[in-house]
Amino acid sequence: MQILDGKLAAIAIKEMLKNKISELKISGKKIPHLAAILIGNNPASETYVASKVKSCNEVGITSTLLRFDDSIPEQDLLHSIRELNDNDDIDGILVQLPLPKSISEEKVINTISSEKDVDGFHPINVGKMVLELPTFISATPYGIILLLQHYKIETTGRYVVVIGRSNIVGTPISILLSRNTAYGNSTVTLCHSRTKNLKEICLQADIVIAAIGKPKFVTADMVKEDAVVIDVGINRIKDETKKSGYALTGDVDFENVAPKCSYISPVPGGVGLMTIAALLMNTYNACKQKH
Ligand code: NDP
Repeated sequence: MQILDGKLAAIAIKEMLKNKISELKISGKKIPHLAAILIGNNPASETYVASKVKSCNEVGITSTLLRFDDSIPEQDLLHSIRELNDNDDIDGILVQLPLPKSISEEKVINTISSEKDVDGFHPINVGKMVLELPTFISATPYGIILLLQHYKIETTGRYVVVIGRSNIVGTPISILLSRNTAYGNSTVTLCHSRTKNLKEICLQADIVIAAIGKPKFVTADMVKEDAVVIDVGINRIKDETKKSGYALTGDVDFENVAPKCSYISPVPGGVGLMTIAALLMNTYNACKQKH
């Protein structure tokens, strides 16, 4: 069994980006600039945004963090996004989700210019992804692809079972892996809460991708010998032994599933870190396309 180490794979991507960005600096070209918007102080969102900003700094991407109180009126937020759309120095915009209930996620996503939508959530970019046109692939599915590529895991002809059909993870990764591309060509089944015989379906899979949001949902009896298991889940569970009072765990019962696998991604230290690496790639590409 080999661990799909998101930290190592992310370091490789960051090194590559760092070199490319220092070349841009040397030749006097535009340096990528990411604007991140954080609303309120949800502790998980704070952590995610802080690590995105930190990762930008590590590779030389300029970052600007805009913080707003969670009482910000929707119109004011949309106005700030439009200002960033019009600001030529900004290449990528991300708005950390989830948003306060008073703000429409759909409106926010639709307001971000599709050319600066480095999270790849805008309907134009989702449509382009489905049609296999050049676009920003949303960071988590892109991160999964980058992780598979880093470990040279063959996807062609393999049977993939994705559990979870969200717009940000399950649905896009199932589409990407089924396309006729170097990182696709899999036969994919997309499962969800209404799927019958989930265990039997998973047992057929060469590659299982779990994006459910339920700790230890995927158990050893659901996974065949030598399967590749990608755990996307990030669940906070109470843990008195930790200073923070909680521990992070995935959607896979790692301890019992890992011995059966050929490869498995851990949580933390797996897909989460790749998501950030993918965001950096999208930001670099946004800048390159424009300048
Ligand atoms: P959602 O809550 O949007 O979707 C969960 C999916 O799981 C739904 O499609 C749901 O089915 C399905 N599901 C729920 N219960 C079952 C069940 N009993 N059997 C089969 N399917 C089930 O979650 P997200 O996709 O946003 O996130 C999933 C997990 O990934 C979370 O832990 C989240 O924190 C994590 N995550 C991690 C990221 C990273 O960077 N590593 C990024 C984004 C998310 P239905 O549609 O029928 O309700």
